[in-house]
Amino acid sequence: MTTTMDDRAEVFSRPAAQINEDGELVVRASSALGCRRALWYAATNYEPTNPPTEESLTAMEAGNALEPVVVRAMERAGWQVDAPDPQDPKQVAVRVGPNLLVTGHPDGTVRLPLSEDEAAAPQVFLFEDEPETPAHGDPMVVEIKTRGPDAFKRWQTLGAERSHPAAVAQAALYTLGEFGEMRAAVIATMDTGNRTWDWERIPADRLEKALQDACTWLGELAAHHVAHGPDLDALPERDFTADTWQCRSCPFLAVCLPGLAEAGEEPAIEEQEVSDEQARDAVAAYAEAQESIREPEKAKRTALDTLKAWMRRQGDAKATVGGKTVSLVQTTRYSVNHRKLNEALDPETRAEIVTESESEYVRVS
Ligand code: SF4
Repeated sequence: MTTTMDDRAEVFSRPAAQINEDGELVVRASSALGCRRALWYAATNYEPTNPPTEESLTAMEAGNALEPVVVRAMERAGWQVDAPDPQDPKQVAVRVGPNLLVTGHPDGTVRLPLSEDEAAAPQVFLFEDEPETPAHGDPMVVEIKTRGPDAFKRWQTLGAERSHPAAVAQAALYTLGEFGEMRAAVIATMDTGNRTWDWERIPADRLEKALQDACTWLGELAAHHVAHGPDLDALPERDFTADTWQCRSCPFLAVCLPGLAEAGEEPAIEEQEVSDEQARDAVAAYAEAQESIREPEKAKRTALDTLKAWMRRQGDAKATVGGKTVSLVQTTRYSVNHRKLNEALDPETRAEIVTESESEYVRVS
């Protein structure tokens, strides 16, 4: 069952979970796949032991501030965007079981600009000189995200269901709350490092699966609530382990895993001990080496550009100049349209085709 509420008192900074005046558990859509023990801590009014740092609050505020930028970029690209008034955002609520509601504020609805081939019916004009307006698809919920360059690339390559399943669950809940039915939704994401954006459409059947998964996840918390009522000592099992980012960034870390919170303050023991001074020397050596290759690299690039222009004018692919062979080499690059791939294949099939591996390197900037 879906209900819609407009409640100006509700703000974006409300807790991840609360128990309302009717004794119902109310969970934020953005936390629908969050740790259920953490949601219980929030709902039963535990005091956060590890509140967000100044840095993470700034990053969060920067992300929120960039949402209108993504909206304007979408509009310039021909999308029709219906974004809510930030002072009066529309709240949607989806009921998951008799005693649990999921609520949230969708970023808006969008309509995809259609090509002539995609437009189902020819447009009818009352007047001959009436300007042709582009056709658009049906309204879909849009979930706007901002990511750093690495997370942005990972999202584009793997698709949101694999890289950011919580965002897909959020879009699924908003879609049901907004339209009362499941339909495709759009995730639009800005790369905060490179100031570029992209979008992905999740088809309705896969969004339905994300909704079912979220409801199953939260259903267990709802059952816990039925069994125990708002008992702050009846803690659900931990959903994550100490080595995960969920625990490391959890506002209730110290109460849930006090040993880890203390261990986190200990200095890490490295396999090889390197002093601070050695690290400083390494950075200085790196900077010096960088500086020394900058000029030669620039000279090399200029020389190669000159030779490329000369070879093109000659019309030859190979020439001997000053005893050196100069070749104009042509290579073909192959690229994958990840947006189309992600939309065409379900996450399980994609996981067999697009694999990921992790490596470690040091960057000095
Ligand atoms: S520390 Fe980890 S297991 Fe404990 S509540 Fe937080 S996320 Fe859940």
